Amino acid sequence: MSDMVPEVLNAALDSLFTPKEPGEQEYQGVDGLLYCRNCHTPVQCRVKLWGRDKIVPCLCRCQQEAMAEKKRQDELVERQRKIRQLKATGIQEKHLLEWNFGVAEDNKDIQMAKRYVEQWKKVKAENLGLLLWGDVGTGKSFVAACIANALLDQGIPVLMTNFSKILNQMGAMYSEERYRYIASFSNYSLLILDDLGIERSTEYALEQVYAVIDERYKSGLPVIITTNLKIAEIRNPQDVAYARIYSRILEMCTPVQISGEDRRKSIGKEKQQVVKEVLDL
Ligand SMILES: [Zn+2]
Repeated sequence: MSDMVPEVLNAALDSLFTPKEPGEQEYQGVDGLLYCRNCHTPVQCRVKLWGRDKIVPCLCRCQQEAMAEKKRQDELVERQRKIRQLKATGIQEKHLLEWNFGVAEDNKDIQMAKRYVEQWKKVKAENLGLLLWGDVGTGKSFVAACIANALLDQGIPVLMTNFSKILNQMGAMYSEERYRYIASFSNYSLLILDDLGIERSTEYALEQVYAVIDERYKSGLPVIITTNLKIAEIRNPQDVAYARIYSRILEMCTPVQISGEDRRKSIGKEKQQVVKEVLDL
């Protein structure tokens, strides 16, 4: 009886794999297998099933290449979808999406930012944070956004936000929700906190600022902070509440002074140039 099973199967397989006539794009080779007219590799192969030779369909080279290409295209589409999604959640302010290396002047601040991105693996492994400080209009947020966009383009999760926004969102939350919200920042390989120092300075606000900074510290993941505050102020704060925030920041971040040409002024200059040309002044 046990011998009967393979016989039954063999009959079924024979009917399934009966050698077929060559199709329009096929021809029969000297080995009896069908070949693809296009790539001249077989569209059939011989396999042993229950001790018998069977001829089964297989993919010729051009079909294999087409499948590999389709897989590559699907992966590319999926990757682009993932990047779009990462950008939508990581950078909520639309204008920041346009701040990238492609539109940046090639100054020393931008070169530093490019190296930060190039060395990202090391930056992350060594948890190398940055404190970008400098006067208003020097382009600290621009530099940070360039880094954010370049990493997001590589599929690396980045969140660029600021404390005004964080405090605003936390305002409507219960303490348990607040905790989860702060913990959710650990989902981002890089956290960028823009414009430290412009948020409210109430006891509650400073408590939350410390909670966010401290959570990042515990996560062991890098953070980039931008601020208009003077580095001396950060190193020697007057107030205890600020002192514990700033000392945590200095533990995580290397201060880098951003001195770049005033971007807003230079945009102003470009505009003036355009106006001159348009109005033929
Ligand atoms: Zn082929």
